[in-house]
Amino acid sequence: MENDKKYFHALQVKTQKCVACMKCVRVCPTKALRIREGKVQLDDTRCIDCGRCITACKYGALIPWSDTMEITKNKKYKVAILSTAFAGQFSDKVGYPTAKKAIYHLGFDEVLEESMITEQYSWMIRKYLKEYPQTRPVLSSNCPAVVRLIQVRFPSLLPNLLHLESPMSVLAVYYRQKLVNEKNIPDDDIGIYQIVPCISQVTAVHQPEGNIADIENGAISIQEVFGHALEVLPEAASDEREIDVYTKGLSLSVSRMEASENDDGNIRTLAVSGISNVIEILLKIENQQIDPYDFIVFHSCIGGCVGGVLNIENPFIAASRIRHIISKGKDTKFEDKRISEMFDNGDFDVTPLAGRSIMKLSSDIKTALEKMKRIHQINATLPGLDCSACGSPTCLTLAEDIVEGKATLEDCIVLLR
Ligand code: SF4
Ligand code: SF4
Repeated sequence: MENDKKYFHALQVKTQKCVACMKCVRVCPTKALRIREGKVQLDDTRCIDCGRCITACKYGALIPWSDTMEITKNKKYKVAILSTAFAGQFSDKVGYPTAKKAIYHLGFDEVLEESMITEQYSWMIRKYLKEYPQTRPVLSSNCPAVVRLIQVRFPSLLPNLLHLESPMSVLAVYYRQKLVNEKNIPDDDIGIYQIVPCISQVTAVHQPEGNIADIENGAISIQEVFGHALEVLPEAASDEREIDVYTKGLSLSVSRMEASENDDGNIRTLAVSGISNVIEILLKIENQQIDPYDFIVFHSCIGGCVGGVLNIENPFIAASRIRHIISKGKDTKFEDKRISEMFDNGDFDVTPLAGRSIMKLSSDIKTALEKMKRIHQINATLPGLDCSACGSPTCLTLAEDIVEGKATLEDCIVLLR
């Protein structure tokens, strides 16, 4: 377990705006939020950057953070990598090719897409499953929020995680090398920026977990890019350059990534979205109460990355637009055997992750056991309503907070009555 590590989060806490309504405390899946002295507090060890609290808070006390376009000014050769969710953000009137051209007009030299790599990524997964027949089910590591959830709440399942960079990071590693080798661009001049739909991907860029360090130079939100793209749409609309659309890669993404592609009768797959569903399935895996799946794809957001908090469009509309692009568009095939070689070399491998120790009871086992006993004793005296009125999400977490010296029994207003 990792201890005493400082965690970065792409989440800003504006305490002065907090009205102590408790909505964020109730929706947080890892019990990372508290209300103390009438204001919200974040436990940075427990937070997994799922973004649910941002959606729940109507007062602006919890807001997302991401890099702005300013960051691209630091590098001479700029590459954008678009999340597949980007394809669903613009209306049919604008059209995807124009939306993509707009990114060039924002000053990027190259515009890549997650969907370029999806087919080759599926191949990597099939190979990985063959190489590790003893690990079942293998759990996708695409969604950084789910990876962190496993670190915080399900550390026994860490060995089941796919030890591969995410598709966008695989693309970044490969492309950086390609630019250096084929275009002779000095590594220091290259800026690779992910255009992302969620705060967990911002955090993954700024504090990679087990990943190769410094793959990308920033993570800019789809919201930020969308705003700037609208300003250059007239130029983009009259730009006659050819734009590639990777309909096969997009279709894999909307069918929950590699799950459907790999389910070929021999490999059994499952795709799960929405943090509550993810937790339910992880519990089943932990308790060995699940059918024998080979590979499970998880997304913290309902419907996948189109549901991320940094998107503009409603997730159902965005998904429907992507399906429309797939049905109308002509697929551009993207394949480079160099990617397969790099995979075989282990260039995309992620080091095994450690769990996160969310409660530091004591390094002394005797003291730790006494504290555990005290938590259970206090919990037994509490009403068991889990009403959150004390500022902790449940009665058990209040008992833990009391033993850790962060709350008192008087915080329970039901007991005080
Ligand atoms: S981002 Fe998610 S895990 Fe972090 S505090 Fe908000 S709801 Fe909790
Ligand atoms: S499902 Fe996608 S958008 Fe949502 S948290 Fe995970 S990676 Fe981010």
